[in-house]
Amino acid sequence: MPEAPKFKRVLLKVSGEALMGEGAFGIDVGVLGRIAGEAVAAARGGTQIAIVVGGGNLFRGVAGAARGMDRARADHIGMLATVMNAIALAGAIDEAGGKGRALSAIPMEALCGTYTRARALECLDAGEIVICAAGTGNPFFTTDSAAALRAAELNCDALLKGTQVDGIYEADPRTNPGARRFDTLTFAEALNRDLKVMDTAAFALARDNAIPIIVFDINETGSLDAVLAGTGRATLVSG
Ligand code: UDP
Repeated sequence: MPEAPKFKRVLLKVSGEALMGEGAFGIDVGVLGRIAGEAVAAARGGTQIAIVVGGGNLFRGVAGAARGMDRARADHIGMLATVMNAIALAGAIDEAGGKGRALSAIPMEALCGTYTRARALECLDAGEIVICAAGTGNPFFTTDSAAALRAAELNCDALLKGTQVDGIYEADPRTNPGARRFDTLTFAEALNRDLKVMDTAAFALARDNAIPIIVFDINETGSLDAVLAGTGRATLVSG
């Protein structure tokens, strides 16, 4: 008999940066297809998957504001960027043989469904991979916060944060090759050591709702499967 999945339902955060591949902007279709394929394989393995996708590969509100744009308007554009990524990811999931369902926090019915908790749960229970677009639907937030919010309201067992490195380090390993890497951390340790696991609002929401955060390298082929099996190289923040 196949082993029961370790997690019943997870929230996967895919940053916009992860979709750029080696590029400096936009969507690398090869990377998109690989991530989609891994999500489809995980869903087939029996884990329900909700994805919150970022938009930093296309537009970030803070960057627009730094160039003199009104911050709220710049964030509106940032949220639209996440919708573009979500539509692309839903398409790639369909092509990989799964069913991707993009649901936007800001209604735009001609392009994708509108996010409601009930609809997302229905789709997840039907075996679809739900891609939550437009973040929280509000400016001045990030998709990290949206990931923590959706993980809490969709009763996810864990928040998987896919990054460009294989866990949390005491300093950026790309600039500090000797930096120590952690296998596990408590929320309190992460706070005390001032480790930037997620932004402050997202971190507080996950901690207050006791949702474990698992940070792993989404660029590593097979990493999602390994993390879901509990064997992957990652940092677990909990308790
Ligand atoms: N954004 C927002 N509200 C949200 C989530 C995102 O206004 O709830 C905007 C914000 O401008 C942000 C952009 O969408 O810069 C893209 O999201 P984020 O920077 O979190 O993407 P990532 O860094 O994960 O690619």
